[in-house]
Parts: sequence; C-alpha cells; structure tokens
Amino acid sequence: MKKADILLIGGGAAGFFTAINVAERNPSLKIIILERGKEVLTKVKISGGGRCNVTHAEFIPKELSQNYPRGEKELLGPFHTFMTGDTIEWFQNRGVELKIEEDGRMFPVTDSSQTIIDCFLSEAKRLGVEIMLNEPVKKIQKKGESFILHTTSETFSAKKLVVATGSNPKIWKILEGLGHTVVPAVPSLFTFNIKDSRIADLPGLSTDVTVKVLDNKSKTLLESSGALLITHWGMSGPAILKLSAWGARLLEPLKYNFNIEINWLNTLSEEDVLDSLKELKSFQGKQTIFKYAQFDLPKRLWQSIIKSSGINERLTWAEATRENLLNIANQLTAAIFEVTGKSTFKEEFVTAGGVDLKEVNFKTFESKVCKNLFFAGEVLNIDAITGGFNFQSAWTSGFVVSQNL
Ligand SMILES: Cc1cc2nc3c(=O)[nH]c(=O)nc-3n(C[C@H](O)[C@H](O)[C@H](O)COP(=O)(O)OP(=O)(O)OC[C@H]3O[C@@H](n4cnc5c(N)ncnc54)[C@H](O)[C@@H]3O)c2cc1C
Repeated sequence: MKKADILLIGGGAAGFFTAINVAERNPSLKIIILERGKEVLTKVKISGGGRCNVTHAEFIPKELSQNYPRGEKELLGPFHTFMTGDTIEWFQNRGVELKIEEDGRMFPVTDSSQTIIDCFLSEAKRLGVEIMLNEPVKKIQKKGESFILHTTSETFSAKKLVVATGSNPKIWKILEGLGHTVVPAVPSLFTFNIKDSRIADLPGLSTDVTVKVLDNKSKTLLESSGALLITHWGMSGPAILKLSAWGARLLEPLKYNFNIEINWLNTLSEEDVLDSLKELKSFQGKQTIFKYAQFDLPKRLWQSIIKSSGINERLTWAEATRENLLNIANQLTAAIFEVTGKSTFKEEFVTAGGVDLKEVNFKTFESKVCKNLFFAGEVLNIDAITGGFNFQSAWTSGFVVSQNL
C-alpha cells in the first residue's frame, strides 16, 4: 500500500490548482494526484477553443456569483477569499500574463492553453507533487482515520482526500456509497434547434432581444435578455445560452420541446410599438413598409418580420389596415417559435449535477457527511454560463481547499 499525506483524485484543473497550493503552503507533505487517464489536464487543453478562457473580468463577488445557475449562493463566500483578481495575480506570479477581451473573457496572452498546462506541470514538479497516470480510482473506503483507495493496479492510503474528478458518474456512485447525495446530471449550456421559415435565411444575424420560455398554457417559465444569434440549425447567443443554463433542470423533462416568445425590440411593449406604427402610417404614409427597416432592426430581419406578418411587399404605411399594424406589432414583440431539440454549444459539454451542495461546508469545501473529504471543481453541483466562470469556480474551490488542508 502506498501512503501519502494527501491524496487527490483527478488530474484536471481543480486537482492541479488544489495540489499546487497545498504543496506551496506545506512543502513537507507527501501529495499524490491519481489520474485515470494517460494524460492530465486534457480539458484545459481543449478549453476555449485551445486558448483556455481562464476567468472573467468581473471583480465584484456578488456580480461574479450571478453567473452560476447552480452555486450562486454557495460561491459568494468563497469568492471573498479567492476570485478573479487573485486568479490574475496567481498566474502573473508564475510568469503567465492574462489579457481581457472585449466581452470580459480572459485568456493567456499567448492565446494557447498549453501555457496554462506548462505552468501547472512545472509548478507541480517544483513543489514535488507526485502525479500518477493510468490510476482510475475504483473504490474508496474509510478505515478509522484513513481513506483507502483502490485503483486497478494499486492501493493508496491517506488521512485527507480531495475529490476533483469533474462530471464523472462512476465517482459520484462511489461518493453515494460514502453517504453523499448526488444530484443527477442533466445537460446545461446548449443552443436551441428551431426549424422556421422566418429565420431560415438569416444565419449569422445577431440582435439584442428578450426571450421567454413558455409552458403549454403560454405562461412564462423563464426569461432572459441579451444578444441572440441565428444559426443554421436554430438560435444561439448569450440570451439563449442563459436560458439553457438556468433552465437546465426545467427543460430536460420537456425533452427540449417547448415554445419560446421573442421580443425583437427587447423591452418595447406591443402597445408602444403599435403607437409607433400608427405614427409611421400618419407621417411616412408614402413609404413602402417592407423596404425600410424601422426600430434600428437589421434590414434582413425587418423584412422577414414584415413577410411573416402577412404584409405585401409593395404595401405602403398609408395603405396598412389596423389589422396589418397589429400583426406587425405582434411579430415584433411576441413572435412564437417552436423549439424541437438542442445542440451542443461549441463542443462545450457542461452538465448541471453533482454532489449536493447542502452536504458541503463552503467555508472549507469539506464534506459535512464524511470528515477530511474535500471537493474541488465540477464534481460539485456547480456550473456556470460560458465565459471563464467554470474555471474560476475550479480555482476558487481548489484554493479554499488548500487553505484548509
Ligand atoms: C470543450 C470544452 C471547452 C471548455 N472551455 C472552457 C473555458 O474556456 N473556460 C471555462 O471556464 N470552462 C470551460 N469548460 C469547462 C471546464 O473545462 C470545466 O469546468 C473544468 O475542466 C472542470 O475542472 P475539473 O478539474 O473539476 O474537472 P476536469 O477538468 O474534468 O478534470 C477531472 C479529472 O479527473 C479525472 N478522473 C475522473 N474520474 C477519475 C477516477 N475515477 N480516477 C482518477 N481520475 C479520474 C479525469 O480523467 C480528469 O482528468 C470547457 C469544457 C469543455 C468540454
């Protein structure tokens, strides 16, 4: 049996960040990372399209926490200990400069995830963290004060255990055996499949909208605002991704078949829009409705909306009937689209689910069910929208764990 002071399961973002920070504080401890694969940090490698979106330039803990559909309340305290500014400084102190892009996402200036991997590997080596590959943990037992871990080839023991296995169903089963509750995994962060002639010719078009998810009685279940991107298969963009993340649990039982209502004019009400259309009828009577886009809408979108309102392409504002105006106002502010499935967003497979947050002490990330068992990263029922927030949660949890080991 191989003995260590601290065993970590999982050689991913959270496992490495925890191990390095523990080793730095306690150079004399024997720390082993057990990784089931033949390589470590594989998700870091492919993250952010190979550039690794390390964190997000949001420096207020409360605002940062609002990007986590699951974990918002629990991460607020930990963010006061370690958040964006600390992440930037941590990497800077190790020779890795980060840059901010226009939308707030932060990447290494090299635009390469390998920079992050190299930093972690050299830090782990410098601090004497032992990394053992091809060691899938199959069984965890608690014997007295010690955890006994069985992989396919070896047995390990330590008094302190950190589980940083990401979204791994097998480990969740093992954790259930130790008395934990695991919230079942469902997909989060996906785009909506929509086949509709109104958007068929508009792929690539992006505009700010408000979108609502409706139930079968047309009651609003969820609402979000932001940019919507029309794609070849339906709709994507921040407004849709937010709905998919916050609605992860709600949309799964609907089998991703539901209606959405789009207000292409974001916050304008149907009544206000109707008033504006009446003014156009009074003051721009000779103008062809179809030809000139109104409300600063992209012209192609305007023309598609006018067509779908049943308006002849040659009709002028003066010729429009009250019914015509009502139809336009309705299509502009409350257009219904049928969602008939989901697609993965840029290969980013994010799942909602994991160790129940009620069973974790967020001052330490220690299990309330099993003493000296700690969690870091995606193994917990925490997930975020896209933008660098998922890694920030891995860094924060890893750092807080390291403080308490
Ligand atoms: C394509 C893609 C792109 C992404 N891009 C970004 C991005 O740019 N920014 C961002 O913030 N987030 C991104 N994410 C999400 C981010 O990668 C995860 O949130 C993050 O990797 C979670 O880190 P983790 O250490 O908890 O888990 P992981 O990175 O999944 O690491 C877990 C490790 O544990 C190992 N393991 C599992 N079970 C066992 C076992 N039984 N025994 C031993 N080892 C085991 C696994 O092999 C793995 O190496 C992306 C995700 C994907 C899929």
